[in-house]
Amino acid sequence: MSTIRFKALEEVFNRQPNYSVSPNERISSFFGENVFNDQAMRQYLPEQVYEKVREAILEGHQIDRSIADLVAAGMKDWAISKGATHYTHWFQPLTGTTAEKHDSFFEPIIGGEGRSIEKFSGSMLAQQEPDASSFPNGGIRNTFEARGYTAWDPSSPAFLIGKNLCIPTIFISYTGESLDYKMPLLKALHSIDKAATDVCQYFDKNITKVHATLGWEQEYFLVDSALFNARPDLMMTGRALFGHAPAKGQQLEDHYFGSIPERIYAYMREFETESLKLGIPVKTRHNEVAPNQFECAPIFEEANVANDHNQLLMDLMEKIARKHNFRVLFHEKPFSGINGSGKHNNWSLGTDTGKNLLSPGKTPKANMMFLTFFINTIKAIHDNADLLRAAIATASNDHRLGANEAPPAIISTFIGASLTKVLDELEKNVKSGKMSAEEKTELKLNIGRIPQIMLDNTDRNRTSPFAFTGNKFEFRAVGSSANCGNAMMVLNTIVSNQLKKFKKEVDAQLAKGADKDEAILQTLRKYIVESKKIRFEGNGYGDEWVKEAEKRGLSNLKDTPRALDVWERKEVAKLFEEEGVLTAREIEARHEIELDQYTLKIQIESRLVGDIALTRIVPAGVKYQNILLENLSKQQQVLGAAGKKTTEGLQTLVSDISNHINTIIIKVDEMIEERKKANNISDSKKRAIAYCEKVKPYFDEIRYHADKLEIIVDDELWSLPKFRELLFTK
Ligand code: ADP
Ligand code: MG
Repeated sequence: MSTIRFKALEEVFNRQPNYSVSPNERISSFFGENVFNDQAMRQYLPEQVYEKVREAILEGHQIDRSIADLVAAGMKDWAISKGATHYTHWFQPLTGTTAEKHDSFFEPIIGGEGRSIEKFSGSMLAQQEPDASSFPNGGIRNTFEARGYTAWDPSSPAFLIGKNLCIPTIFISYTGESLDYKMPLLKALHSIDKAATDVCQYFDKNITKVHATLGWEQEYFLVDSALFNARPDLMMTGRALFGHAPAKGQQLEDHYFGSIPERIYAYMREFETESLKLGIPVKTRHNEVAPNQFECAPIFEEANVANDHNQLLMDLMEKIARKHNFRVLFHEKPFSGINGSGKHNNWSLGTDTGKNLLSPGKTPKANMMFLTFFINTIKAIHDNADLLRAAIATASNDHRLGANEAPPAIISTFIGASLTKVLDELEKNVKSGKMSAEEKTELKLNIGRIPQIMLDNTDRNRTSPFAFTGNKFEFRAVGSSANCGNAMMVLNTIVSNQLKKFKKEVDAQLAKGADKDEAILQTLRKYIVESKKIRFEGNGYGDEWVKEAEKRGLSNLKDTPRALDVWERKEVAKLFEEEGVLTAREIEARHEIELDQYTLKIQIESRLVGDIALTRIVPAGVKYQNILLENLSKQQQVLGAAGKKTTEGLQTLVSDISNHINTIIIKVDEMIEERKKANNISDSKKRAIAYCEKVKPYFDEIRYHADKLEIIVDDELWSLPKFRELLFTK
């Protein structure tokens, strides 16, 4: 067998699994122990400072510099008491990973004759200056004026990783533009808080704050690190660019909810324990549909903290996987022919009075409030479907959307039969103008009945990209490798904008002397009618839906460069400026960054496709062909004329191999030519489109022939670990 593959497999089979797992103590005894949380703040901050910080967190305002010094001192003492030596501003640049720059607390005392102190001031807590030019910035920063700041986000608690105190921060350019995922998300959350709280006043004056909630479900694959290292494509791109589907894939569905293999269980226990210490409330773990695919989900939290926790968890999962000789794949589609991975974003709105605004209540009044938020969300989805599509558009997620396993690239929403009935009835029964007392009573009675029908939990549809699931919406089209910040920023912004429009319409009617319930119901009825075409209850994976959606005039943007076009629309810039979330300049920069990220990803994949095809696959084909040719010629020598007939099978095999090899070489050449042309295009959008339309199609063509060779060529000569090895070794 090819030495590379043989050695990798040998290593896997000789593994001494690391089963030493985590503490057996109760979770509550270590949950959050590495977080500068409420309890730690109480202990390490003077009472007045503690109160000020709490207030700032709860009300979302800035902390004064004078207070910051005292917070920094307390934070430092806490961190040092736990063995920390360094601190870092932890942030989320638009590269899609997290970044940190470590600085030591240690400082020599000037003129102190070799003495030193541990120092951490308010200004060090509040601000740091990493080099903004080394992160994608869409031309906002030139390298020669590469100043960018990270600034403390007090609403997400500081935490300890090893000996390092990490402070969640936003990342902005010197001129104040956001260069990360967090800052626009915080702004969107602020905006929806205001908009939703205002709307709540129609129903409940006690509500003074609304926070968006997020509960993500993280899917991932695990591959043994020895096999991973023997696959340059997995190493460099996170997905297998070649590989024939295994004889047994996921058709038996024997993996889903099956028992978790011990080695994997040990890994899960360890990263879960570390997550829990960091206050990440992980709760569920299970196998997914595909072999070696798993999921981890926490209890939902306020969206900003939930997103930080997701980023943190992904970091931890990667680090801890290496300890267990695994590599974790967050790519949306690591193995073609096998289910990909997503990250469902469960989203809702919660009030400071403890109410979930997307949960039906027990009274007509409570349900009016529920329906208001429910219908406004649907209307926002309807009016801004293209923005939601853009929010989840990446080169890697393109492989998954619409691949008969994940929601298609068409945005629609599923609400279930019972709520469809409620909306239909509202549409039918709400009259414009004055309604009679009986009409109103009848309506309210119906509205009051919602909670009973909602108990019917069978009302589920797994094929919708945006499904209502009883007390929250589930945005399922988000990719597994994504930073949820993008999807959450867009979703909260559009719903916020919609709620403001709603309030304006209702207030206008109230000003004209309309009755409040009537004004609300009539406005909702109007939205039900206007947003009908975004609702779809059928099978989202079927071809019929693609046709039906086209008839309805819904977009179906299959690839990222096109999906991102929406960022060029004037009304989009207006919406985001109105909401105070992104300026036109920031939108332009982000659009360009996303296009460039797309291009870079496809470019790297294309280079690897070429490399692996020419240096691994073609040579294996040639070697095997030589063996066959030698055998053929010997047979024909010995057998003479009869040998011509009895070697027909071998002859066909030899010429098949020739065909595959020849096509691979020609296509790789053509692909390289297209790549050169694309590289010469200076416009980001045109370049991304060229990569999408001219370069990328070669991947499948080349792969087709390479995968055919894989099932012809002597297994001993094949150097890339095969799918059966990657997916079924545990
Ligand atoms: P599934 O979608 O697999 O059936 P569940 O419905 O139990 O699973 O919940 C999935 C996720 O939804 C969990 O991460 C949970 O924390 C989250 N979730 C539940 N309620 C809310 C809410 N009000 N806001 C946001 N997320 C929520
Ligand atoms: Mg789910």
